[in-house]
Amino acid sequence: MLIIQKYGGSSLKTSQRIKAIAKRIVNLGKKNSLVIVVSALGDTTDELLNLASQVSSKPPQRELDMLISTGEQISSSLLTMAICSLKRKAISFTGLQSGIITDTSHTEARILNINPERIKKFLKDSSIVVVAGFQGATTESEITTLGRGGSDLTAVALAVVLKADKCEIYTDVEGVFTADPKILPTAKRLKEINYEEMLELSSLGSEVLQLRSVEMAKKNNIPIYVGSSFNPKKGTLILGRTKEMEEHLITGITIDEGEAKVTILDVPDKPGIAARIFEHIGKKDINVDMIIQNISHQPSAISHQKPQTDLSFTIQKGDLEQTLEEIKKVADKIGARGVDCDENIAKVSVVGVGMRSHPGVAAKVFSALAEQKINIEMISTSEIKISCVVNKKDGRKAVRAIHKKFKLGK
Ligand code: ASP
Ligand code: MG
Repeated sequence: MLIIQKYGGSSLKTSQRIKAIAKRIVNLGKKNSLVIVVSALGDTTDELLNLASQVSSKPPQRELDMLISTGEQISSSLLTMAICSLKRKAISFTGLQSGIITDTSHTEARILNINPERIKKFLKDSSIVVVAGFQGATTESEITTLGRGGSDLTAVALAVVLKADKCEIYTDVEGVFTADPKILPTAKRLKEINYEEMLELSSLGSEVLQLRSVEMAKKNNIPIYVGSSFNPKKGTLILGRTKEMEEHLITGITIDEGEAKVTILDVPDKPGIAARIFEHIGKKDINVDMIIQNISHQPSAISHQKPQTDLSFTIQKGDLEQTLEEIKKVADKIGARGVDCDENIAKVSVVGVGMRSHPGVAAKVFSALAEQKINIEMISTSEIKISCVVNKKDGRKAVRAIHKKFKLGK
């Protein structure tokens, strides 16, 4: 069997752990061909980014990639040394040496193509191949990285081109849970989850897998097993169709405390205004998440002023300063009364393909919040998701209330 395994930074934090993982790999490698993908040790990537920010307020993207790609080179070479010292043949490769060709978008590069000939040659020679995750190179041999959490993508992409029998991702959590077990100790591990649900969870703040790696797995129908490197037997299988799927209405709940809400007050209620506002911030590469427009109100019964409305939207907190700067300019131009913002929000989301076939899920979510006297500030839905923005102080309480209402716990 050909197995691709990925180990996250927390699994490789100390030399003791590296040695323990090496032992496991050598055991598994007695009967299987193995390609191992690694992340940087512990918090190396954050530490490197921090160093960069100390020497430059705006480091060139190319140099950032030169810098942060080194983290994975350290872990891949160390793990390979540990494997070799157990008398097993192994070799480490960078992204470039692995044949991972990307476009030129430094720090967020897309994989264009993989030429796995070199990996294949060493597998044939019964070596264990250890690949530095998170990186590739352009056709000009410029080093690129694949976005934060990108080692997951390296693993899935290699599983696709090498037609691996299994793709396993080992991290510090035992798979995917009905809610974050750190917030809710009664949260239950899911044995299986389907791609669509995992995509929603990953884009809503679950940090178990990088979003792009799930997209690639779905597109190529590659099942991914996610488990803990400390307890490899327990984990979650992510795949196209699950046995459990029909049984429950909702699969998981996430909370995202990283967004802020911006409100433009008394916007003239006429065609073209929303387009103007969002075009303006879109040009600055600011991603807008939820948007609501309140019903139009007349400023006062006797006045002759035009109808007005409040418009609210959410963005990443990191984009708040720039957004406010931009929005204030537009607000002036379109004759709005002003701009307000709120950083104390939490977005609580409920995900499950069961929503498609069962009406009333939204009502049940809202009543769970109402029973706890939690006020909902914004709502957005998709076919398999309901998100509510609430005050930050109520966020975790909301997760617990919904979890209980749907009896998701152990
Ligand atoms: N080391 C990189 C990061 O921290 C890639 C990864 O961990 O997958 O984002
Ligand atoms: Mg990760």
